[in-house]
Formats: sequence, structure tokens, C-alpha cells
Amino acid sequence: MDNTLMDSKPVLLNIAHGVLQNVTILGATGTIGTQTLDVISQHPERFRVFALTASSNVKGLFDLCKQYKPQYAVMLQASAAIELGAQLKAIGISTIVLHGEEALTEVAAHPQVDIVMAAIVGAAGLHPAMAAARAGKRILLANKETLVMAGNLFMQAVEEGGATLLPIDSEHNAIFQVMPRQRSKVLADIGIKRILLTASGGPFRNASLQELSAVTRAQALNHPNWIMGPKITIDSATMMNKGLEVIEAHWLFNAAPDQIDVVVHPQSVIHSMVEYSDGSVLAQLGNPDMRTPIAYGLGFPDRLASGVSSLDLLKIGRLDFCAPDQVRFPCLRLAYEALNTGGTAPAILNAANEIAVEAFLVDRIGFMDIPSMIESVLSASQIEEVTSIEQLVSVDAGARQAAKQWLENQD
Ligand code: NAD
Ligand code: MG
Repeated sequence: MDNTLMDSKPVLLNIAHGVLQNVTILGATGTIGTQTLDVISQHPERFRVFALTASSNVKGLFDLCKQYKPQYAVMLQASAAIELGAQLKAIGISTIVLHGEEALTEVAAHPQVDIVMAAIVGAAGLHPAMAAARAGKRILLANKETLVMAGNLFMQAVEEGGATLLPIDSEHNAIFQVMPRQRSKVLADIGIKRILLTASGGPFRNASLQELSAVTRAQALNHPNWIMGPKITIDSATMMNKGLEVIEAHWLFNAAPDQIDVVVHPQSVIHSMVEYSDGSVLAQLGNPDMRTPIAYGLGFPDRLASGVSSLDLLKIGRLDFCAPDQVRFPCLRLAYEALNTGGTAPAILNAANEIAVEAFLVDRIGFMDIPSMIESVLSASQIEEVTSIEQLVSVDAGARQAAKQWLENQD
């Protein structure tokens, strides 16, 4: 039996009720970070905010520190940390303000921390998530890029560190909820035939290839069902998000690529499903609100109130499904291909995608250039077996360089 993605380990049962658990929120100013704080605020008897981190948003982190008075705050840049420290001191808040990547890993692995919400966006989230895994924390993993880049090393660190991994991505959280509590390296051994990952299809579900080529930044940032940070919103529009989630599901649940099917479900009410060998299909439903998976991760195995409104199926009326189109959404195909290739291919896919999304967000490239660039970077890259985090960091840097070169060649 495999203990990595856990539930029944004694460590969870040791959590005494009524004892405050210290929480570090990596990426506290983001959409997942602020929704996590929203759920925590509803349970002051259970959770205490230990550390909050952000990249450069001083005002955002100042407001959160004022409200939650964490022991530590971390900003990426020294100048931002100095500014934040001065502002907090001026109002008499004694939060210790640190800066830099090392400080992020320190607050993720700090001995006093029980729970780490990993909600930094992109590859920048890898090191602190690894640190939390090695330190044996309960990790609430929103940062899917960690698993895309370093799935095998991260899952190994979770196992070796004795960490408890709870998926926060709504689809993976749904799958986790409907899976047997028992785990196995082989899904068939626990009666599972396949995983059905649902996808909203994004704002361009019905757009033609011609229309997709003309998509603007504003149109792509307008997701029909979810309010999310800019990077994942663009990923949802290209369906790269679903591709990254296929890779994420592969590592979390030991699922082979052909055991993971994507189903487009525009209402985003069914958050994913698991099909069992007896023909049963179990689904988790709810309003599209990330506070549900966040509350599940924070409270597990207990259920906590999250502030999410009741699902009104009568109002929703119908649930639709259709197959994804990998011709109009080549990012999904590219992600499956990278997963099948294995090794460093998913890390290269991820890095090229991050550069492509950044370039699209500043109107430097068109919407359909995103998959073109990724495909070009991947086909020019040498794929290696993954051996270490250091290797992945250098592969990530190399792929970013190649992606930037691709951009220069377009100008
Ligand atoms: P966001 O852009 O709203 O927030 C990102 C956070 O990360 C911010 O606090 C920012 O300051 C911090 N950050 C950014 N770059 C950083 C860096 N280089 N170093 C340190 N901190 C940095 O993003 P989000 O929508 O909250 O998403 C966060 C993660 O959760 C992503 O990996 C995303 O794929 C995943 N996720 C989000 C949702 C959602 O509903 N928003 C759903 C599922 C998964
Ligand atoms: Mg998701």
C-alpha cells in the first residue's frame, strides 16, 4: 500500500480538537491565499496564521498582516520587505518580516508549522513545497506546477518526509473525496478503472480556430465560472490548465495517462469523477467555489463550514458534457504528449507555458501562439530522465531561455 497521499495515517488522528494549528500560507495575497484566510477566519478556535508570504504586493500583505498578525511575513524582494516592515512597525505590529526564496522555504518547514497552503503560482512554488514535504507537514497543494515539474521527486519527498498531502485543485480534491481511503500503487487493485477530469472548457469552448487566433487578453481573462489569478485563467482558456491537471492526477493518484479522461462540463458543478470496475461512477458536486476544497484540506478528516452557498440543482437545471477538442486546444494534446514522453518533458512544457502566458498577457503574442511556442520549445529540447531538483531548476531555466529566444525570433 502506498501512503503518500494520505488520510488514514496516524499523524492525522493526532490532531487534537481544540488545539490551534499553525498555518503558513505561501502566496497569501493571491486568490487561493485570500480564500484560505477567509475559511480560516471562520474557525479561529482551530487555526492560527503563522506566516504569510507574497511576491511584491506590499499593500496586500500589509492589510493581511494587520488583520491576522502572523509571526512571520515574507516578501520576495528585500526592498518590499523593508517597506512592509516599516509600515507594520508604525502601527505596532510585531510580525517579523523576512525576504527571499530561502525565507519562503524556512516558513514552509518551520518546526512550529502544522499546515502549509502551497498557493504560489508557477515554478516559483517548487522549492517551498519541497521544503514542506521534507519537513513532514500537512501540505494543501494548490500549486499544480510543483507536480508537473517534479512529480516523482515531490511524491518521494512527501513519503520520505512523512508529510500529508491533500490536493486543493478542485478536480483532484473531488477525486480524492470519492476515492477509497485505502491507497495502492495500482488503481485496479482498489477497483478503479479510470478518472474523469471535468473541464469547464473556458470562455472559448465553442470558438472556431479563426476566432481563437483573434482572442484578446481581456476576453481570455474573463472566465465563465471561476475567479482565479491571471496565469491559471489564461491556462484555463487555452486548456493548458486541464493538461497540467492530467499530469497532476497522474502523480497524485498513480494513474496511467490512458486512465485519465477529460470531459468538458460547462457548468463546473461536477468537479470530477472516478469510475470503478463494477460500473459505478462517483462524483463530487458543489458550487464552483475554491473554499470547498480549501476547507476540506484544512479540516480533513473533519468537515468544516466554508461559507460556500448550497448547490441549487433545480436552478442549475441541467448538466452538459462533451469531448474536449485537441485541435482547437492543442495545449491539452501537448500536455498528454509531455506526460507520455516523461522525464523532463513536463517541466519544459511548464516553463515554456509560463513564458508564453506572460508574453500573451502583455500583448506580445497572440492566443494561438501559446501552443505554437510550447510545441517549438519542446521539439527542440533534449528530454532527460529526472534525477534531481537542481537538474530540474536548470532544465526550467533552459526552457525559459529557449522560449524567450522564440519570442525574439517573432519580433
Ligand atoms: P494568484 O496569481 O492569484 O496568486 C499568486 C500568489 O503567489 C500571490 O500571493 C503572489 O504574490 C505569489 N507569487 C507570485 N510569484 C511569486 C514568486 N516568484 N515567488 C513567491 N511568491 C510568488 O494565483 P492563484 O490563482 O491564487 O493560484 C495559485 C496557485 O494555485 C497556482 O498554481 C494555480 O494553478 C493554483 N490553483 C488556483 C486555483 C484558483 O481558483 N485560483 C484553482 C486551482 C489551482
Ligand atoms: Mg482545477
